[in-house]
Amino acid sequence: MSETIRVFAGDCTTTFEGARARTQRGRVVIVVKPDRTVLVHDADGYQPVAWLTRPDSLTVETDAGGFGLVARAGEQVLRVVAHERSGEAEYPVTEAGVPVGSHPDTGEPLVRTSGDVVGLDSDLRYPLPAGATVLDETCDACGLPKIRAEAGGVFEICLDRSCESLDDAVRERYDREWTCPDCGSDLRIIRRGGRLLAGCDAYPDCDTAFAIPAGVVVDECDCGLPVFETARGRRCLDATCDAFEA
Ligand SMILES: [Zn+2]
Ligand SMILES: [Zn+2]
Ligand SMILES: [Zn+2]
Repeated sequence: MSETIRVFAGDCTTTFEGARARTQRGRVVIVVKPDRTVLVHDADGYQPVAWLTRPDSLTVETDAGGFGLVARAGEQVLRVVAHERSGEAEYPVTEAGVPVGSHPDTGEPLVRTSGDVVGLDSDLRYPLPAGATVLDETCDACGLPKIRAEAGGVFEICLDRSCESLDDAVRERYDREWTCPDCGSDLRIIRRGGRLLAGCDAYPDCDTAFAIPAGVVVDECDCGLPVFETARGRRCLDATCDAFEA
């Protein structure tokens, strides 16, 4: 957790050059996000009076008398010059996510962001398998929340893959369960290039391999491989299978 938001407040003249050119003066609060996005807020409504999202450059100058900011993105320039400073501060920030509990050892709050569960007080980050949901139940071994992930079957496992591995659970259930459509060897459950695969046992003589979709096996395809029910509908383990009819 190393990101901060900087906040400046005061009587400022704000000048925007570009498509929405205008100059305004008032007592405002300027928010500078970790990605350099600048938002100038006045007393009214939710919308900033001026802003520049992720500018190419941002310079901030402060002295005893006040502060000045210049943000540039192509032709657009946002300038804020303080006539009188009310305050200035810098605060640590994180992504905000859905709360999913706390760390059993440290009590650190845990939130779910798009693809991870992250801690608010540290660099703690647990990547989630595609389509996984975080459960209310906690792991018997470590106390972290459990997750529900679909990878052929439904697996309810620990959030921390070093505590309980989805790969191991899938391997236990599906290793050598399916047959390579190209050479008849068993398909092995392996992780390669960051993806969980059903790959041919005859590798490297046969390099057939299929990424295991986030879904549950519901049927058998005419090609002999399993059919998965996924969030985007039914599909053969082989995404390019000619025999599969939806
Ligand atoms: Zn655990
Ligand atoms: Zn094969
Ligand atoms: Zn098929």
